[in-house]
Amino acid sequence: MERGLVEVSCPGCGPIVVGVSAMTCGISDADGAALCQLECPECRHLLHRPIDPNLVAALLLFGARRAGRPLPFELAEPHRGAAVTWDEVLDLHIELERDCCPHERLLHA
Ligand SMILES: [Zn+2]
Repeated sequence: MERGLVEVSCPGCGPIVVGVSAMTCGISDADGAALCQLECPECRHLLHRPIDPNLVAALLLFGARRAGRPLPFELAEPHRGAAVTWDEVLDLHIELERDCCPHERLLHA
């Protein structure tokens, strides 16, 4: 018997109701932000939702799983500045085809 249900919005399916036990939640060590991850039961899209850190303990009591590895907390960060354009995405793709691992040069510099 499911102890708790939550409604979340999926970009493809709209509002959906899922059991709390389908959620994985965690709190960032860096800034205390909280994030929950779940898979949409309709389209299987992986959803991430920032939540109030004070709610994490309650969700864990109702059956949510504690994140065993870091969640992508950068998804909960506020976005500033202009959106990335398609031209910028294509330029990045072209650059990565030329040089697949630019970060390795930084690590070994
Ligand atoms: Zn969906």
